[in-house]
Amino acid sequence: MINFEILSIFPEMFASPLNFSLLKKAQDKGIINISLHDIRNWAEDKHKMTDDAPYGGGCGMVMKLEPIEKALAAVKKKQKENSTVVLMTPQGEIFNQKIAQELSAKKRIIIICGRYEGIDERIREHLVDREISIGDYILTGGELAAMVLIDAVSRFIPDVLGNPQSTQSESFSQNLLEYPQYTRPSNYKGWAVPEVLLSGNHADIELWRKKESLRRTYKQRPDLLKKMKLSAEDKKILDKIKLEEI
Ligand code: SAH
Repeated sequence: MINFEILSIFPEMFASPLNFSLLKKAQDKGIINISLHDIRNWAEDKHKMTDDAPYGGGCGMVMKLEPIEKALAAVKKKQKENSTVVLMTPQGEIFNQKIAQELSAKKRIIIICGRYEGIDERIREHLVDREISIGDYILTGGELAAMVLIDAVSRFIPDVLGNPQSTQSESFSQNLLEYPQYTRPSNYKGWAVPEVLLSGNHADIELWRKKESLRRTYKQRPDLLKKMKLSAEDKKILDKIKLEEI
């Protein structure tokens, strides 16, 4: 069981994307729980202001410190387990499969979603355990980024996926992209599925998959191969691929 607590001024945004397919099933079964908290509920002035102009001038608005701090305190108070506070920010460490797996071991993850020019720096300084970016581009808010994180983390929670082995052969799990996948029909308008996959010979299929996985990574993401410890067998296969690709 993992609990995601989301602090946002647009909690309604989370309603539909997380309510389909595997994430919907996981919530129905109580394997994951997603609670939405509207930061505005902790804004104390009569206009329920959650943002203000930046000190020192400049464009845009900054999300205020107190409503987020109070929301965080309230959410932390109602729970026994330790929680990990994640701030979605383009300045954070870049999210990947390894971070998703690490976070899946947590019991409770509180996610702060910024808007406008971002949040008051003191939140980051005093209240956040981990800062995460989903890539080198700027979104209008942290909500979509939080949903990407929740989706990728949830796939590592036991029983969310039909087959837990899916996460092991998948792209990035070993710094390799996954091999190509096919399903019926075996031939459509002359576009045929590779013969070996129909052969029923498991050793041949394994070898083919390994080779195609290495080929894909070599062609599309050579940077990943550099991070990988290649076995002697992998190296041999890779040399063959290099010759084939010339
Ligand atoms: N002025 C800030 C960007 C603010 S974007 C800067 O230059 O760093 C507004 C909010 O959107 C951020 O507070 C953050 O919560 C979210 N956000 C934008 N891009 C993001 C990204 N790549 N990853 C994660 N969150 C992002």
